[in-house]
Amino acid sequence: MRRRLAAGNWKMNGSRAALAEIAALAEAFPAPASEIVLCPPATLLAPAAARAEGTALRLGGQDCHAEPRGAHTGDIAAPMLAEAGAAYVILGHSERRADHGETSAQVRAKAAAAQAAGLTAIVCVGESLAERDAGETLSIVGAQMAESIPEDATAEALVLAYEPVWAIGTGRTASSAQIAEVHDFMRAELTRRFGAGTGDGVRLLYGGSVKGANAAEIFATSNVDGALVGGASLTAADFGPIVAALEAAEA
Ligand code: PEP
Repeated sequence: MRRRLAAGNWKMNGSRAALAEIAALAEAFPAPASEIVLCPPATLLAPAAARAEGTALRLGGQDCHAEPRGAHTGDIAAPMLAEAGAAYVILGHSERRADHGETSAQVRAKAAAAQAAGLTAIVCVGESLAERDAGETLSIVGAQMAESIPEDATAEALVLAYEPVWAIGTGRTASSAQIAEVHDFMRAELTRRFGAGTGDGVRLLYGGSVKGANAAEIFATSNVDGALVGGASLTAADFGPIVAALEAAEA
């Protein structure tokens, strides 16, 4: 049984005032069946962890370096995220692939570093609109998976997020049929590469304009174990209904 997961990506948003959202979310879901994770900016990780202590909420980073320490100005190592209170780290988000030219090989090295630090990596894959229109969705996702996932990945250390680039922050959501096609493909690829145990155990999230209004339909889709949510994770008022839909799907 895969435990469902709702992960919120605050991106470069939020100040200390936003920590109140963490308290509100934790209060709304004191004992969730699914897992709830918030990934605030790195500067808020430690105070967010303090705010989440004793609650069911877990925290994550938004990136890490592939090395555990060293001369890498401005970067954050996976053990540092763990020490600050993170249990998860988002890796290979399309915004990092676009803004920082991050390659799948780099994502794979970062995922290995995350695993070594005891973090669960949420590795993001997904096609651009041009790639979808060219009929290349599955080959792009397959290649990103092959190149971004470490050889010794485990169901505990890896979560995969399918995030079609054209659906992120656009208000445009992939249809259930489009999501099911990709998620079924991802499940089959994982099972082919890692065998039934790990292949069945890795959780698959959908990400791309998930809101309270469309969450239930998305969570009822084949091989969808939860969501990676950007804009709608910034407040408890918006994220709460998504978590509630996940809890209803869990029941
Ligand atoms: C994301 O950034 O991972 C994301 C899915 O964003 P949004 O929910 O805002 O589309």
